[in-house]
Amino acid sequence: MEARAPFVWTNILLFSLTFLAALVVVPWYGLKHGYSVGAWVLLGVFWAANELSITAGYHRLWAHRTYEAHWSLRVIFMLFGTMALQNTAWAWCSGHRRHHLYVDDVDRDPYAAPRGFWFSHIGWMIREYPSGQTDFSNIPDLRRDPILAFQQRFYLPLVLLTNIGLPLAAGALLGDVWGVFLLAGVLRLVLSHHFTFFINSLAHMWGSRPYTEENTARDNPVLAVLTFGEGYHNFHHIFAHDYRNGVRWWQWDPTKWLIASLHLVGLTRKLKRTPVFQIQRALLAMQFTRAQRLLDRVPATQASSRVSALRQHVAHEYESFLAAVADWARIKEQWLAEKRRAVAEHWEQTSFQLRLKELEQRLRLQRRRLRVLQAQLV
Ligand SMILES: [Zn+2]
Ligand SMILES: [Zn+2]
Repeated sequence: MEARAPFVWTNILLFSLTFLAALVVVPWYGLKHGYSVGAWVLLGVFWAANELSITAGYHRLWAHRTYEAHWSLRVIFMLFGTMALQNTAWAWCSGHRRHHLYVDDVDRDPYAAPRGFWFSHIGWMIREYPSGQTDFSNIPDLRRDPILAFQQRFYLPLVLLTNIGLPLAAGALLGDVWGVFLLAGVLRLVLSHHFTFFINSLAHMWGSRPYTEENTARDNPVLAVLTFGEGYHNFHHIFAHDYRNGVRWWQWDPTKWLIASLHLVGLTRKLKRTPVFQIQRALLAMQFTRAQRLLDRVPATQASSRVSALRQHVAHEYESFLAAVADWARIKEQWLAEKRRAVAEHWEQTSFQLRLKELEQRLRLQRRRLRVLQAQLV
């Protein structure tokens, strides 16, 4: 039986000992000796470097290939990603690609949220479940990367160097060996572990689903703050090839800002963005589903003339939505055909873009109208 899958003792010891040390030794040492400013600063610096190497490196660069990065940046992501102690990039990305492909499938998603908070948070790592078996067949691209092959080969020495050597050396330099080790070594590791794990657990349970209800992933601004922008998980699961998770300009996504800023200095390139129309289409489709659900709740016998008028209104909006989607597909098709024939004059491309922009605007206005309609339904 799965429940009796063998324990992975290294992980059990690692998670429980570091957690206990963070809970007991860190505050005890603080009360007894106090921590230097340098130790606090390094806690922040290492934590940010670890989290960003996981979010911008492991996740958005390697697992999803949402952009390309200069080799120097990949080396930094590899080193600080190793320090985050979430396994090698090969193992992490291979599991994560399966998570996206089989999301919520209790047999094949390695951290399927329907198996509960504990399992999706940490339980999946402390037993050898069949769903979590290592299988690198889905990462042929990453296996060709010499930086990642190096990490895979020397993972343990790199882990010891970054997690023990680096904090101890930094502590010696600052004259606060134990303080730096406990804050920037132990507490940093535990915080960055659990905040990242929240994406597999809480971000599949707590929050809103504005883009799709086909999986359990949620958008959650609180988790976005704790994870450098990964909390917009509902968007991420539907548009995983986008380098952004918080797609709106006001959404907290420092990982997106980092990737975009590095683009300005030439360290990242080919940033992938989902076309605005597709985003609007997903949002609008969800709004229709919700409006329909509200309408369905009204029993046929009680349907007043107001309700039937609203029903007609929604149906009418839905028709115009479908028409816009069909228009968009057609224009896109024409545009691609022109491009293929390489006869598209510049003015023609501009006119296509204008027509696409018009359609985007059409959906935007429709979303507004539908929101008004929905408000009348509640
Ligand atoms: Zn997920
Ligand atoms: Zn992902």
